Amino acid sequence: MIRGECVDCGPIELANVVVHAWSDSFTCSWTCTACGLPGAKECSPRIAGLLRNVGCPLDRVTVYEERGSGPPIGWDDVLDMVVELRGNDWWSELIID
Ligand SMILES: [Zn+2]
Repeated sequence: MIRGECVDCGPIELANVVVHAWSDSFTCSWTCTACGLPGAKECSPRIAGLLRNVGCPLDRVTVYEERGSGPPIGWDDVLDMVVELRGNDWWSELIID
């Protein structure tokens, strides 16, 4: 059992915990067992190792070089995307009529 904190429910048991390894840091994502909402958070190498040791899968993230103009993609953008992709209706929000 892995416990964490949901933004809506507070301290709670987490499910579907995945460790995401970036080139120089780690994040983890999960599903709240109370409300079902996804969550994500940056974590230290120590926490990533502990999660791996208890069986959480590892996702190696590859970030390709950005092209085009506009501000660079930041942590908030990436974590927002993870939350969106774990939702049920991200595809319908992506489609533009
Ligand atoms: Zn929750």
